[in-house]
Amino acid sequence: MIEVETSNGWVQFLEFIQNRCTSAEFENWIAPIQLIQATPEEILLEVPNIFVQEYLLDNFTDVLAHFLPLKHTGDPAIRFTVSAAKTQTMTSEKILIEEPEELVFAQSEVKLNHLYRFEQFIEGPSNQFVKSAAVGVASRPGKSYNPLFIHGGVGLGKTHLLHSIGHYIQENHPGQKIQVITTESFINDVVDALRSKSIDKLKRYYRSLDVLLVDDIQFLQNRLNFEEEFCNTFEALINQNKQIVITCDKPPAQLKLSERMIARMEWGLVAHMGVPDLETRVAIIKQKSESRGFNIPNQIAFFIAEHIYNNVRQLEGAINRLCAHSRLMAQELNQDIVEKILSEMFQMSSTNKKVSVENILKSVATVFEVRISEIKGESRHKEIALARQVSMYLAKELIDDSLMKISASFGGKTHSTLLHAWKKISDQIQINETLRRQVQMVKRNIET
Ligand code: ADP
Ligand code: MG
Repeated sequence: MIEVETSNGWVQFLEFIQNRCTSAEFENWIAPIQLIQATPEEILLEVPNIFVQEYLLDNFTDVLAHFLPLKHTGDPAIRFTVSAAKTQTMTSEKILIEEPEELVFAQSEVKLNHLYRFEQFIEGPSNQFVKSAAVGVASRPGKSYNPLFIHGGVGLGKTHLLHSIGHYIQENHPGQKIQVITTESFINDVVDALRSKSIDKLKRYYRSLDVLLVDDIQFLQNRLNFEEEFCNTFEALINQNKQIVITCDKPPAQLKLSERMIARMEWGLVAHMGVPDLETRVAIIKQKSESRGFNIPNQIAFFIAEHIYNNVRQLEGAINRLCAHSRLMAQELNQDIVEKILSEMFQMSSTNKKVSVENILKSVATVFEVRISEIKGESRHKEIALARQVSMYLAKELIDDSLMKISASFGGKTHSTLLHAWKKISDQIQINETLRRQVQMVKRNIET
């Protein structure tokens, strides 16, 4: 690393980062930060609110460490001060000025996707329960299950169902005020409102809703201050019997959120969205291809469904490729052609199938420069423990086996140890760029 004058470190960081994030990101999050003081030991930054501080540390700790003096822990030595004009805090219920209400917040305006409707949602044993819960909620908002919490893997139709609820209520209960938001846009709204000192307006807005549909709540993890604001909004709505529906990639108990928040989310109905079985996948393929004006023969639909089994979005991807190909080539589809066109996708799913714990350990051992026997052993040495946790994380991600069975392959660790490791690494790779790269490298090097 080049030695730099401390006060320049921040300036250099700004220059470095400016080309690496969008101008909106830079303007919203980075530009408002003021350098107050710089010594060889640390720098003092003034931030407009705690969220800007969190954003900076969440996203750029590693980068900052290259430019700034370091603490003995290796973290960048930054002290923060929140600017004096912080008249509005998250918890203040005081309404400062009565302005005309401007009731829609720009970021939160996620429109309902017109393709995501109940009519377009194919039912099967894996999703019947969650679909009927969704229909129940949409028919009697606020009166049946509240909140409805939908969880399941990626690409299985959670967002589709969430938007379907929105459409149904819009059409059958026209007076109801509905908002669909992603968790990210909720957070952005809160930050913007804090910056423009309109947090009370935002609160009034959210609390005036009849139906709040929240997508991907897992992104609230590790965002402590936002969690509190979300939890307050949540309680305010539920207490007035306003309907809330939440989607997530895992069940409430596995979320790294406060006990209070987890308990609230378990208040209503928790419904799991499973992986569709073969017949359902075939039905989805037929419906999606017909809606594109394209007819896929049954035999071929089965062939595709047998090879792509755990993600409906991938099925759609396959159909799109086939449609494009057959239009371009004006060619009848047969199994050979399909196989050729989709071979890349099939390869991906079949690689996943063959991964074993031993393959993972081998690759982790190489990348982390430790021995397989050490990973399987008991050592709590930092490097070894990290390698072990990464192995467990990847085993859970890549192997379709029970947790119990996977954890047994790690020298008889319990499945809660495995879950703990998985959680820790999932969180770490969100904020630690080096670790994320190492994990990717391990993944690439896994031989099957
Ligand atoms: P998730 O939010 O769970 O990641 P999405 O709701 O975005 O998944 O679904 C991915 C794609 O798959 C969407 O285009 C959606 O319409 C489609 N899809 C998922 N499940 C079904 C289903 N049961 N019937 C029809 N389409 C589905
Ligand atoms: Mg989704």
